[in-house]
Amino acid sequence: MNLEPLFVQTFHSASTVHASSPGRVNLIGEHTDYNEGLVLPTPIPQRCEMLFAARADDRVEIYSVQMQTQAGYALGAESAGQTWLDYAQAITQELARAGHALRGFNAVVSSDVPLGSGLSSSASFLVTVAKGLRELFNLEITDVAVAQLAQAAENGLVGARVGLMDQMACSLGKAGEALLIDFRTLEYRSIRLPETMELVIVHSGLTHSLAGHESGTRNYKTRRLECERACALLGVKSLRDLELSDLERVAALPAPFAGRARHVITENARVLETVAALEAGDLQRVGELFYASHASMSADYDVSEPEIDLIVQIARRTVGIYGARLTGGGFGGSVVMIADRGAGRIAGEAVMLEYTAQTGQSPRLLSPAV
Ligand code: ADP
Ligand code: MG
Repeated sequence: MNLEPLFVQTFHSASTVHASSPGRVNLIGEHTDYNEGLVLPTPIPQRCEMLFAARADDRVEIYSVQMQTQAGYALGAESAGQTWLDYAQAITQELARAGHALRGFNAVVSSDVPLGSGLSSSASFLVTVAKGLRELFNLEITDVAVAQLAQAAENGLVGARVGLMDQMACSLGKAGEALLIDFRTLEYRSIRLPETMELVIVHSGLTHSLAGHESGTRNYKTRRLECERACALLGVKSLRDLELSDLERVAALPAPFAGRARHVITENARVLETVAALEAGDLQRVGELFYASHASMSADYDVSEPEIDLIVQIARRTVGIYGARLTGGGFGGSVVMIADRGAGRIAGEAVMLEYTAQTGQSPRLLSPAV
């Protein structure tokens, strides 16, 4: 989409900087990032695109195509208003805190990453603002630092306790590659995805909330606390300190801590196995690891839902699909599947048809994009 005519129409002058960043899907390595573990996200084709131009004053004015509104604030007067503008306010606040000199700017944002569907429209928006401002004001920031600032922004003014995976994937990810990230060291390595592979992403129609203030124990915040408790019971600093050989010791923990720890330990091992299988082009093996990851998330980590389990079950008997698993934090959200290139759309639609017939839910095919 060419945003320049819209920029000129909105701000009566031309833009000077273009920035963009993709949404992401996590292939495997779920609930491992905050346990100093391994993750394997990959960018999706959908992106957040922005145009920028500096202003003479200290105001920020942004037009969002998706929100169909313009909103603004003064630099240094950022304050949470529970609207989409919080994302922009959060990142300018973090840039200033990190000592970067900003001036006011105009911007237009448009994203074809579906908003609020677990493909990280939020991180791609934050990363795109940070990269745009880096260029506009000649700031010295590495791509890793962009990701860290975006995380600080989401943890800060936005108020969502998220890990660093999404921002790393959006800031550093390249098409056709996955990013193996080690959250103990923040070391990362690009993994070329097999040309023969196509990703299928189906949104279940169930929404999730990361906020963690819903009642009960089936939420993200509780899982984080349970991991901390498991560490205390096992006398380790982080679940990353444990190996497959520790599983016997872990099994002796009371419920639910045994399952929580077992998921994280086995999931880290599955990430490495998936990398090896991808490098060998062995989609069958990648698929088996996806199913194993899902079973672990469902039984041990208890972040799935009956509807999500059903999508995975249907995928198992759908021709052309090698593997399927819940992706993202859970309690709803999307399932990521692996198919042969060119076969993804038909396989995904077949899964959705049966799922809809059985549940009455309204799933959406998020990838391959239309
Ligand atoms: P996800 O990251 O899974 O898409 P989030 O709830 O974390 O879901 O982030 C979605 C929010 O990010 C939106 O509700 C909106 O506030 C903000 N956002 C993302 N992209 C845009 C955009 N193009 N224009 C305005 N706000 C956006
Ligand atoms: Mg998000």
